[in-house]
Amino acid sequence: MLLENRDACTGCGACANVCPKKAIFLLPDERGFYYPQLDADRCIDCGLCKRVCLIGRKKELETPDFSVEVYAAYAKDDFIRRQSSSGGVFSILALEILRQGGIVYGAAFDENFNVTHIGVRTEEDLAKLRGSKYVQSFISDTLYREIKQELENGVSVLFSGTPCQVAGLKLFLQKSYSNLLLVDLICHGVPSPKVFSEYLKDLEKKYGKITSYKFRDKHRSWKWPNVEFYTSDDCHRIYYGLDSFINLFNKSTVRNSCYQCEFANSERISDLTIGDFWKYKSSETMPDDDRGMSCVLCNSAKGTKFFLELPKALFFEKRKLEEVEAGNPRLLSPREQVLNNFWPLFLTLGFHGIKKKFCSVSLRSRLGLWLRIGCPWLYNFLRNIWGIIKK
Ligand SMILES: Cc1cc2nc3c(=O)[nH]c(=O)nc-3n(C[C@H](O)[C@H](O)[C@H](O)COP(=O)(O)OP(=O)(O)OC[C@H]3O[C@@H](n4cnc5c(N)ncnc54)[C@H](O)[C@@H]3O)c2cc1C
Repeated sequence: MLLENRDACTGCGACANVCPKKAIFLLPDERGFYYPQLDADRCIDCGLCKRVCLIGRKKELETPDFSVEVYAAYAKDDFIRRQSSSGGVFSILALEILRQGGIVYGAAFDENFNVTHIGVRTEEDLAKLRGSKYVQSFISDTLYREIKQELENGVSVLFSGTPCQVAGLKLFLQKSYSNLLLVDLICHGVPSPKVFSEYLKDLEKKYGKITSYKFRDKHRSWKWPNVEFYTSDDCHRIYYGLDSFINLFNKSTVRNSCYQCEFANSERISDLTIGDFWKYKSSETMPDDDRGMSCVLCNSAKGTKFFLELPKALFFEKRKLEEVEAGNPRLLSPREQVLNNFWPLFLTLGFHGIKKKFCSVSLRSRLGLWLRIGCPWLYNFLRNIWGIIKK
């Protein structure tokens, strides 16, 4: 039987891709997350869906020559770095694959702001994959098959995504390919597409039709970003601390499987892992200018070789794994659920009700946030004074 453990299903789509009778469909549940549904009339009990299911398979997916080398890095190209969520390493890896005539897979918005995995072959299209989309990206029931075909044709492929998506692809392929580079993200969990779509509707009531949306605008700061969106006549930015979707992401809008994620640790299953280098400590050659710093975990000989051959496009420096772990708890364990009653409330109150209940920011916190953004030195000064008073 398909899906014995629904709570652990990540929606990676491997079962739907492998089914020879197209008997498995991915359909959204009431929370907006995709789960496999079986058409029993078409099923021939071949067991392939079971064979590719990633639940409980983490150990066998680990890279055989696993040994981690860690780097801090960012793109030399300032435009790429500014447009990316962290230091722009993903784009640099992807450009090299495109230069080789290859194809790069990753998450993109469609015209209705649904997030879906697609493949791109040109630098122009690469922009669609650039930047984090903090929503679970949909994997179609043909995507892994298409990737396999490209690999069999000898095309260089970079597949990027959450660790569970990489696991789904690996299990679907059932063998390794020298022309495949696997890149996963350090992942804090994937928020619900339904919550995101209701949040956008809520924004549109206030601001009008949204024409583009970015989860992380870093123009002022990488560490204190905004969400940014455009309507026909204006650009709008909302500071993270005040944005309802980001607030809820940090609380409880992620998929159930994220709370028991087998991949939230530093034994990775991809060739390369990329993330934000939070708590990065400046060196003389690479000072922290708050414009975005990536951490890169080279997990396999293939990943290390590929990364180290990119020096012309990147500034990078070797670091210790512990430095990255210090700012990235998702390299140590899965996240915990903050609000146990989030979903029942969301399903009865809707986004607007939830926003009112969980996302209101007191005047004092609002003032604190504005001070932190507008006048950081004064904010730090007052905080220090307050610390002394408290002592
Ligand atoms: C849901 C989510 C949670 C994350 N949590 C953390 C975290 O806790 N700690 C941390 O250090 N980093 C986290 N990241 C990664 C971080 O936000 C950056 O994506 C990463 O550092 C790469 O940045 P970049 O500047 O190199 O490239 P960018 O151009 O900013 O990132 C593009 C890459 O992100 C991928 N991507 C974007 N959205 C999705 C999506 N919805 N699903 C799958 N892949 C996607 C693209 O395919 C591409 O590979 C998370 C990303 C996502 C999408």
